[in-house]
Amino acid sequence: MSAVATPAREGKSPASDLKPISEQRLPGGELKQEFRAVCRMCHGGCGTIVEMVDGVITKVTGDPDNPINFGALCSKAGVASIENVYHPDRLDYPLMRTGERGEGTWTRISWDEALDTIAKKLNAVKAEHGAEAVAFARGTGINNTHIISRLANLFGTPNVTAIAYFCYGPRVAVSKVTANGTHKMWDTTPVPDFFSNPKCIVQWGSQKRTSNDHGLIGHGPMKQAFENNPMNIVVDPRKPKAAGHADIWLPLRPGTDAAMALGWMNVIINEGLYDKEFVEKYCHGFEELKARVAEYPLERVAEITWCDAEMIAKAARAYATMRPACLVWGNGTDQLGNNTFQATRALMMLMGLSGNLDVPGGNVFYPAPKLNYGELWDKLLPEQAAKRLGGDKFKALNMTPYAYAHPPSVYRAMKFGEPYKVRAYVVTGNNVVTCFPNTKLITEALKGLDLLVVHDTYMTPTAELADIVLPAASNLERDEPRLHLLTKGPKSLYLDTSSQKLVSLGERRSDWEWIIALGQKLGFKEYFPSMEEFVEDALRPSGAKWEQLRQMDHGMEIPVEYRKYEKVGFGTPTGKFELYSTMMKEWGYDPLPEHVEPPESPVSTPERWKEYPLILNTGAKQPMYWHSQYRQVKSLRSLNTEPLCEMHTDTAKSLGITQGDYAWVDTVRGRLRMKVTTNTQVHPKVVTIPHGWWLPERPGPDHGVFEVCSNVVVDDDPANCDVVLGSSPLKGLLCKVYVADAAKKPAPKPAASAA
Ligand code: SF4
Repeated sequence: MSAVATPAREGKSPASDLKPISEQRLPGGELKQEFRAVCRMCHGGCGTIVEMVDGVITKVTGDPDNPINFGALCSKAGVASIENVYHPDRLDYPLMRTGERGEGTWTRISWDEALDTIAKKLNAVKAEHGAEAVAFARGTGINNTHIISRLANLFGTPNVTAIAYFCYGPRVAVSKVTANGTHKMWDTTPVPDFFSNPKCIVQWGSQKRTSNDHGLIGHGPMKQAFENNPMNIVVDPRKPKAAGHADIWLPLRPGTDAAMALGWMNVIINEGLYDKEFVEKYCHGFEELKARVAEYPLERVAEITWCDAEMIAKAARAYATMRPACLVWGNGTDQLGNNTFQATRALMMLMGLSGNLDVPGGNVFYPAPKLNYGELWDKLLPEQAAKRLGGDKFKALNMTPYAYAHPPSVYRAMKFGEPYKVRAYVVTGNNVVTCFPNTKLITEALKGLDLLVVHDTYMTPTAELADIVLPAASNLERDEPRLHLLTKGPKSLYLDTSSQKLVSLGERRSDWEWIIALGQKLGFKEYFPSMEEFVEDALRPSGAKWEQLRQMDHGMEIPVEYRKYEKVGFGTPTGKFELYSTMMKEWGYDPLPEHVEPPESPVSTPERWKEYPLILNTGAKQPMYWHSQYRQVKSLRSLNTEPLCEMHTDTAKSLGITQGDYAWVDTVRGRLRMKVTTNTQVHPKVVTIPHGWWLPERPGPDHGVFEVCSNVVVDDDPANCDVVLGSSPLKGLLCKVYVADAAKKPAPKPAASAA
């Protein structure tokens, strides 16, 4: 149960015409109401009951009748979500910069003036330098994906940056290349079916109980799946408590996932454990794959991955024989840099080979709801699409409906003008300074823009550098049908709303509201008629009406069908599940998975390894935060006050570091000072740090990013990105760690020696 004292604030409240599920007059005469809503503190979709007294939110609890979270909520919901809505630092009005960029002097302007100014400047940049000189940005898939692409396509720019290129996007692109192809009725990627009693769960670089992606809520369903005692295999250099008691733990060397998966396939194929019927009837390229996996005998795989050969074989046998088995995948392989696409593809191939694809308890393609996503890709002229930054090199970035520019290439184009200069940037819900690699370069690039617009909930390090800052509505302040990352429940997909608009404070606008208004100002009224018409148009193919959806308890249920390929085949060029990818072959990439050494590693840069003898993984998720969000929400910050560098107890000891010491995490690109936490659940050669950190309480414009943000030390060089999709290496970097306050500590012993 969660309750919080809430301050009064200017603005309409309640804004909702939703029907309450209960209503009563309190002894003092106040009106107490309860509403069903959807928590959107992340892009999950947990059901909530929101209590309001005289229009003020007083309590948020889990909805016990919700079929997905069964009343359970994570720490971000409840008190924290109320704090977030009423937080005194929230942006309430549009602001225009009056002093130097980043100086922090602003004047309040009206939405109309803001939109007029933005539209005029964007059109001026377009007229003088071409539409491609304007870039758009979005953050996580929090429901603005399609509408931002629509505006960018109409405007004529191919340059939309999104975090997707190293978060979820690799799994979507791999699924498209390997299975979905042109199919439109399958949701983007196959997700673990926790609801159908898997006998074996493989957590491969993903902790679904604390990080809920692609609409799959892990904390309830995965916990429930573990109650049936499935075999639990963890493939990860780190095994946090949330991973549960592992039957097999393979703490692999970061960046070697493709080799590990090829080793599993070697065992599965050579021991005849694969699903022969699936391979014969539905796969393309089995013989070619067989030849490739022969290059990965377990001795070689053990040497590459630093794991025990017999344990690798045991895990592979369990996964292939304890059917149904599901494989939990995620950022662990999304963020491997040059190994991303092939490693991710190898995991998907494991699902097919082992007979666990699209079966109950395996990895399932949920149905894609019938919706009009409305990106209007046909409005982007081919000559403009050809100017997509990074699209010439990273071919998979051009695949619709998720075609994006390559963020590191965009920031370099902003700063250096190569191959052309990006001059204006419209950022919706993305703290780009903290979320993309090379914080320093991005900061400098943003400072050189002709126009930077940021629509966000707080004054972030990115917003501090803007010309115009716009106040964004958050959860409980917005209402639209959810078009993206729909919630995956027991054997059904749930088409619901993105939250429920129960209050409306200041002049905050949702992403959809502001993009529609900007679209109108830019002359695209025909395509952005009004919020209502836009919503009804998006929903039309589904047969639902917005009002119907808003009043539904848990959204519209769309049942899952299993083994769809038996009826319709796969959507690839061959119509088969492509072990050998014809699309990759055509693009000029290796059509089969292969291990490639990370750009810096004990093997590829042995000299650097001598000086930087530890492997750094960044991007670790913390359940109380959502990427760069919520560090100013007290109830959440009290759970984790600062970023922690996690390392093995023995490694720390050898470096003269004890739990709670501050240490430098040093790379060839820069260093960060962090408090150290030690345990024995991380590989002794691996150090991990969380991502998204900034310190809202510190003065702007930086708010401490250069002290605490992991992207200060992450490599943004396009040459070191994944060759197919351009994913940056957030993991598998080299570092050294040493005591920060050396004067207070005895001299450290020599660093741990190379393995
Ligand atoms: S997992 Fe996401 S949707 Fe569910 S309670 Fe937590 S923040 Fe809300």
